[in-house]
Amino acid sequence: MELPFAETYKIKMVETIRRSTRQEREQWLKDARYNLFNLRSNQVFIDLLTDSGTGAMSDVQWSEMMLGDESYAGASSYYKLKNAITTLLGFPYFLPTHQGRAAENVLFSALVKKDDVVPGNSHFDTTKGHIEFRKATAIDCTIDEAFDTQIYHPFKGNLDLGKLEDVLKKYPRERIPMIIVTVTCNSSGGQPVSMENLRQVYAMAQSYGIRVVFDSARFAENAYFIKMREAGYADKTIKEIVAEMFSYADAMTMSSKKDAIVNMGGFIGFKDEALWKKAQTFTIMFEGFITYGGMSGRDMNAVAQGLHEGTEFQYLDTRIRQVAYLGERLKEHNVPVQEPFGGHAIFVDAKRFLPHLPKEQFAAQTLAIETYLEGGVRAVEIGAILADRDPVTRQNRYPELELLRLAIPRRTYTNNHMDYVAATLANVFERRKEITTGLRITQEAPIMRHFTVELEPVS
Ligand SMILES: *Cc1c(COP(=O)(O)O)cnc(C)c1O
Repeated sequence: MELPFAETYKIKMVETIRRSTRQEREQWLKDARYNLFNLRSNQVFIDLLTDSGTGAMSDVQWSEMMLGDESYAGASSYYKLKNAITTLLGFPYFLPTHQGRAAENVLFSALVKKDDVVPGNSHFDTTKGHIEFRKATAIDCTIDEAFDTQIYHPFKGNLDLGKLEDVLKKYPRERIPMIIVTVTCNSSGGQPVSMENLRQVYAMAQSYGIRVVFDSARFAENAYFIKMREAGYADKTIKEIVAEMFSYADAMTMSSKKDAIVNMGGFIGFKDEALWKKAQTFTIMFEGFITYGGMSGRDMNAVAQGLHEGTEFQYLDTRIRQVAYLGERLKEHNVPVQEPFGGHAIFVDAKRFLPHLPKEQFAAQTLAIETYLEGGVRAVEIGAILADRDPVTRQNRYPELELLRLAIPRRTYTNNHMDYVAATLANVFERRKEITTGLRITQEAPIMRHFTVELEPVS
């Protein structure tokens, strides 16, 4: 008999989680104004809100925490992290930041000005927020296949080179500070970008004299998909693939809370010394001195170790197979999910799940509420609420995909938990026809409204 798949770690420390009653959850939802960000964590049984900063660090990472050097300037922890970034990712210069959006804030302060355009593949919400905050525009050049959850494409994160070239031709070079390539592409479902596409985008960018910046939160998961799906990479190690990927970037921003498997942290990698120097001023203004940039020494140590562990095949195989395990269980229950499965999450297609709800009633958020009500499982809307209003017309933007994201924290839950989540969604799917109305917004912020939005059921 072929031996089954099993996790390549064992558990050394546990945290108790509590099951609640449906009645309790009904009340908590009202108190939270139907925004799951407002729940307390002890009101959640299985928390799939995000895979960001929610992973379990290894025993070696915890050991590294004890070795942290908290010197204000020139700490050994800074050099440990610098060494990991240089040897694994190939960036000779870097700046630490407290998380990924801080990296965006620092880098974009140096690069983005009013009326600029920044082409890319479905920019992440904070990335887009930092572009629009500077009165510039993010232009989505993702391939069309990404917007059909039912068709198979191995690299749905790819940029459409035709769309990209249109942008590069249309605007003068001074108005395009960079092309942002998000690996994997979070907003289009944790979908990877192929090495071929990375190479082509870089070649095109070079011919127009424009820099390429990788939004790299899940670069290692992207490398895993290249190894598994792209011809010529099956025999390469993840570390070799990662090195080639970053050879097609001039700079990178990183949320270490994802593939570096820490609870907090980020950084910017640079190949260009002049840009690194320019960005230092903003690090000092917003984050801290350039050798800690908002991070404790111990946390930089954990990031350095996490970068090594996060680029090991065995770890990534365990991780991504667990995500696929949940996807398969959901499919068995006929729940409409995006395929192929992403690296960090399973995305449920809310438009197919609740096709009878008008778009003004936020199908994905409605599904998030029903999923919590059913089983105490917290997931997150990736749809019209997240998409915000158009900054110019102030009209609601209704993206092509209305998704419920079930993000899987790294090394945190077992496959029994995945079975529980699948059963929860299956029960909601069973009674989907009884869900005849959705939600309406009662209060919202002008930008990035999904974190604090208040809603009520449409009666
Ligand atoms: C999480 C994330 C960010 C922002 O990082 P934070 O650490 O949450 O600030 C940026 N881009 C992508 C693709 C991300 O997944």
